[in-house]
Amino acid sequence: MRITTTIVLFLTLFLLFQTIVNASEALVNTDNLNVRSGPGTDHKKIGQVHTDQKYPVLQRQNGWVEIQLENSTGWITDDYITISGEDTSSVTSSNSDDASKTKSDSKENKSITIQYENTHIRKGPSTDYEITDFVNKGEKFDVISETNEWYEISNGEIKGFIFKPFVDKKSSSFATGLKSKTIVIDAGHGGRDVGAIGASGSYEKNVAYKTAMELKQELSILGAEVVLTRKNDEFIALGSRTSLANIVDADAFISIHYNSVPTLPNVTGIGTYYYYDQNKNLAKFIQQEVIKETNAKDRGITFGDFHVIRQTFKPGVLVELGFMSNLEKEQLLLTDAYQKKLVKGIVNGFAKYFGNRN
Ligand SMILES: [Zn+2]
Repeated sequence: MRITTTIVLFLTLFLLFQTIVNASEALVNTDNLNVRSGPGTDHKKIGQVHTDQKYPVLQRQNGWVEIQLENSTGWITDDYITISGEDTSSVTSSNSDDASKTKSDSKENKSITIQYENTHIRKGPSTDYEITDFVNKGEKFDVISETNEWYEISNGEIKGFIFKPFVDKKSSSFATGLKSKTIVIDAGHGGRDVGAIGASGSYEKNVAYKTAMELKQELSILGAEVVLTRKNDEFIALGSRTSLANIVDADAFISIHYNSVPTLPNVTGIGTYYYYDQNKNLAKFIQQEVIKETNAKDRGITFGDFHVIRQTFKPGVLVELGFMSNLEKEQLLLTDAYQKKLVKGIVNGFAKYFGNRN
């Protein structure tokens, strides 16, 4: 009985493998073709492939092909390759090349368990991809492929990519610093107080709110408790914002703003303000990481006598994430892609801050 089951299982796996391996192959038609970590030239270069080399195709996306490399996966543009074997009836399987590929592919069936509630599943291996699903703590998935930072996972129903720190306990040092920390996010202005007005007429209160919501989501995924000083477009006095931060016993407070100097439309850049000296470190980490993600002009960290950071008796900073008075920057700030970069920088800054204190 057990032997029969084993044989059947082996046969099934074998057939499955043959299908996957032979499903399609990319034949490279040029030398020094860059392999990137994601499907697009803005992704990091991780290697090169050359004329006449063949690689199994894992998936295709908007003119890019994910291929199986020896110990990892990578993306190449489909401009310089020929894809073969897409018609599975023309399977030819037994040259030594295929055999070696099957071997390198057949590392044990790895599965992972989700560590956090509402973990994002994305369409591709980068935060630039749209979120296609949310999964919860305890759910299990099979690993289809992996890169240094991402797993491609599936449970038959949901399929997509997940950032490794969200599942791997050993590689989650980045995430653990934020787990169960209480962070108060203060979206500047609101209601009748529109804040700065951008070059094309957008309101600071709306952009700051957008950033706050995205930040809330990312921090929550990493296990932080997030409290918002305003939950919609309403006017909230500065005193109420700070007393909330003090009441909930926050581990950190961040007030989100955008700048404007209409008389000097060329002024740009991002700056972070602190009031108390002991909060310089938090300001420094957030500023550094946001600049790293956005490549914006670095206006550094500065002492700032702002009510929200003076009256908050918890580690608090105020960020000015860009100048809306510069038309080009204003348009950039309104994009989801740029908002994600800002948020990623802030999250990394918090992670470093909490990581460094232990
Ligand atoms: Zn403001």
